[in-house]
Amino acid sequence: MLRLSRLADQVKPSATLAAGAKAKEMKAAGIKVYDFTLGEPDFPTPPHIVEAAVKAMHAGHTKYTAAEGLPALRQELCKSYKQRFDLTYTPDQVIISNGAKHSLHNALAALVGLGDEVIIPTPYWTSYADLVTMTGASIVLVNTTIEEGFKLTAAKLKSAITPKTRLLMMNSPSNPTGVTYSRDELLALSQVVVEHQLAVLSDEIYENLSYDNVKSTCIASLPSMQELTIVVSGASKSFAMTGWRIGWALGPKHVIKAMGNIQSQQTGCPNSISQYAALVGLTSDMKAMNDMRAEFQARRDLICKGLASLPGITVHQPTGAFYAFFNVSKHFGKTLHGIKINDSADFCRAALEKVQVSVVPGSAFGAEGYVRLSFASSREDLQGGVEQLRKLLS
Ligand code: PLP
Repeated sequence: MLRLSRLADQVKPSATLAAGAKAKEMKAAGIKVYDFTLGEPDFPTPPHIVEAAVKAMHAGHTKYTAAEGLPALRQELCKSYKQRFDLTYTPDQVIISNGAKHSLHNALAALVGLGDEVIIPTPYWTSYADLVTMTGASIVLVNTTIEEGFKLTAAKLKSAITPKTRLLMMNSPSNPTGVTYSRDELLALSQVVVEHQLAVLSDEIYENLSYDNVKSTCIASLPSMQELTIVVSGASKSFAMTGWRIGWALGPKHVIKAMGNIQSQQTGCPNSISQYAALVGLTSDMKAMNDMRAEFQARRDLICKGLASLPGITVHQPTGAFYAFFNVSKHFGKTLHGIKINDSADFCRAALEKVQVSVVPGSAFGAEGYVRLSFASSREDLQGGVEQLRKLLS
């Protein structure tokens, strides 16, 4: 048998995709599954964006673009960051990638490698650890608790810094907790970052999905932070465009240039048609996005209320993204419908096998004791899922 590389041996498949695969199998076998695994809006891409893609194809925009993406799209992002955060970027400080995940990977590849340390606050999006591992750098996980609102504090950040620390990964609003850092909380962290001259890779992919009038702050807009920050976002969540694969990053010119070099050797360029579609998404009115956000907020209220009514479950109310993150550890040591529950993976196995509810164990996010439920599902399914979980727990 062919021997795999060291890198291939180290990288695990995405835990959320793996959990979703099992639910898919059951659905293919004709079983009704309440599938709350995957992190993608269940809404279709707005028709005017789809139309823009059709138009782009007919207009012959079916060739390679610049490796770093269409100048018009990069220019539009400069405009958007100026308008929303008063941040001045030029197009050579912007890169378009095949999804935000691709931008995250390229930023890490441009900034860290063997011998470097990257700080990741937990709970963290499951892909961060593997993305860092792929660069050869070491991961330093910094635990945050539900009592701290799942937020990294300046004191905890300070105590995790060593001479090898190069970069801090931030994600607000967060997957899996739905936590949104306030400006003041980010300011406190940024003071430590500036003092130690760390790089910050700020994943703001859920920036447009905030609830209760909470506003997300772009960390690059804080004093002295623009030159230390690579901001990542994209079209996947804001415009329900997960399959189109368009993400972007903004940062210091030399870092974006390095990311462009890497990207030019990796994929040539991002998908040309999707770039034209994303450009229309960014320049047209935001009604579809605002409607989607309003519906997510209603579902957030519904699911949090439902989960809180279940025995032995503690829910942390999310202010952003579309995940409910809840503690199930009161059930550890019990046997639920014949399955002994020792950890969050057991809980999720019991939920899927016994009541056909598919959710993701907290261990995939560095937070044992918790479970993540994506509420990017119909209200009907969310209500049904809660009742199924009630059956499991009663
Ligand atoms: N960052 C976070 C925190 C996510 O949750 C996801 C997708 O689930 C991504 C990035 C990936 O986004 P994209 O589809 O643009 O690659």
